[in-house]
Amino acid sequence: MSQFDVVVIGAGPGGYIAAIRAAQLGFNTACIDAGVNKAGDAPALGGTCLNVGCIPSKALLQSSEHFHTAQHDFAEHGISVEGLAFDAAKMVERKDAIVTKLTGGVKFLFQKNKVASFFGKGSFKGKNGDLYQIEVDNNGEKTVIEAKNVIVATGSVPRPLPLVEIDNVNVLDNEGALNLTEVPKKLGVIGSGVIGLEMGSVWKRVGSDVTILEAMPTFLAAADQQIAKEALKIFTKEQGLAIELGVQLNEIKNDKKGVTVAYEVGGEKKAETFDKLIISIGRIPNTAGLNTEAVGLEKDERGFIKVDGDCRTNLPGVWAIGDVVRGPMLAHKASDEGVAVAERIAGQKPHIDFNTIPFVIYTDPEIAWVGKTEEQLKAEGVAYKKGQSGFAPNGRALALGKAKGIVKVLADAQTDRILGVHMIGPIVSELVAEGVMGMEFKASSEDIARIVHAHPTLSEVMHEAALAVDKRALHG
Ligand code: FAD
Repeated sequence: MSQFDVVVIGAGPGGYIAAIRAAQLGFNTACIDAGVNKAGDAPALGGTCLNVGCIPSKALLQSSEHFHTAQHDFAEHGISVEGLAFDAAKMVERKDAIVTKLTGGVKFLFQKNKVASFFGKGSFKGKNGDLYQIEVDNNGEKTVIEAKNVIVATGSVPRPLPLVEIDNVNVLDNEGALNLTEVPKKLGVIGSGVIGLEMGSVWKRVGSDVTILEAMPTFLAAADQQIAKEALKIFTKEQGLAIELGVQLNEIKNDKKGVTVAYEVGGEKKAETFDKLIISIGRIPNTAGLNTEAVGLEKDERGFIKVDGDCRTNLPGVWAIGDVVRGPMLAHKASDEGVAVAERIAGQKPHIDFNTIPFVIYTDPEIAWVGKTEEQLKAEGVAYKKGQSGFAPNGRALALGKAKGIVKVLADAQTDRILGVHMIGPIVSELVAEGVMGMEFKASSEDIARIVHAHPTLSEVMHEAALAVDKRALHG
């Protein structure tokens, strides 16, 4: 029987990073993953993020943005295009090539770091002294491996909607939504979270008539509401996405006519028939088939594996990270937990600051934030100052043709320490890093205001927002 120092179950951004870091620290490490790619090849390392999440969605967002730009914005640059056409199958082919490159990269990194890669479903079998026994089931061919340390990184799966079954032909989850090879004429999206908005944007830009139905009465409830309101205005008024909030779904029928959704909003009964319907109502932890009962690994009432702030479970030597545990379901949070756990197994004392995890939505304009929203600060009774600046007068944003949006800096009223940074605008997924760095180093808004920012750059808007906290903005 093979024995390892560390066995990781799941090779998503949590698991594969944990395995690499454990191997770098000198541990004899194995990583088990059951992932199969679109072509049926296995193992498809990289988890949700690389195969059917972060990366493929960004590839489609980029392609659709190019098409939209060529269609709507080239003319003002003096560029005319004749016979402009869009080929969804080609876009998906390009996306698949990027996915293959990156998943292959993980395989290469496993080889380079001498991580033993097992393909199959991993489950707890029992204990042999202080070693955990993990069974790997590769389509009925079973192997048992043992380790003193186990890191569970089995991620998440889409939350099912009881009203309808996903067939990934007409009713799609994230996987189906990323693989449409024709532009649907009418696309419905249930859920206006990150995935719904990103997928809705992709297909809207290439010609679909998109309607997003959201149960919550508030748009992007987790975001700062000033930013959320600005986003809603841009998406609905300027981009033509139909977004209905406070929707109660009554019935969904998937038949020859298409997918018909009957719902109620503001007391009014409505029904719409779509060619395709994306269900994106959140994700749930994936512990199916892990056989946690064999060792008594505890889960919480929502099905997440119970961990403390350091990702320790109730069992000595068993850790859990990423989407399968509490906290935001984000790839970078999963990876950082993976690194920290490997280092803790090695006796080191790493620290993750969960208050400075950045959040990004890759719509156009992008939305990004770190730290507390105004709503949170008010609810907590924290006295704060705020400074904001817009992209409208920013030279770089104007040259890019993306002079829209704002940056808002929130700082403690007494100490001036930055408490939150909220952005909507061009490529703010990159700009938010300055806010993250500032908050991590406990910067004041004045610290950012006194840093020289290159000209002309989008980062000048962050600079101006920091200056505006103490009413010193020069262009505002
Ligand atoms: P996962 O990536 O889900 O990986 C878990 C792995 O475990 C999978 O490979 C699975 O096959 C394997 N597995 C599960 N059970 C077993 C078992 N019993 N045995 C063996 N293997 C098993 N996050 C961002 O930060 N930025 C984004 O832009 C972003 N975009 C997204 C877009 C979409 C459409 C989706 C769906 C998600 C997106 N996310 C994004 C979220 C991100 O994908 C997840 O937070 C991240 O993948 C979580 O990593 P993980 O390692 O915890 O789990």
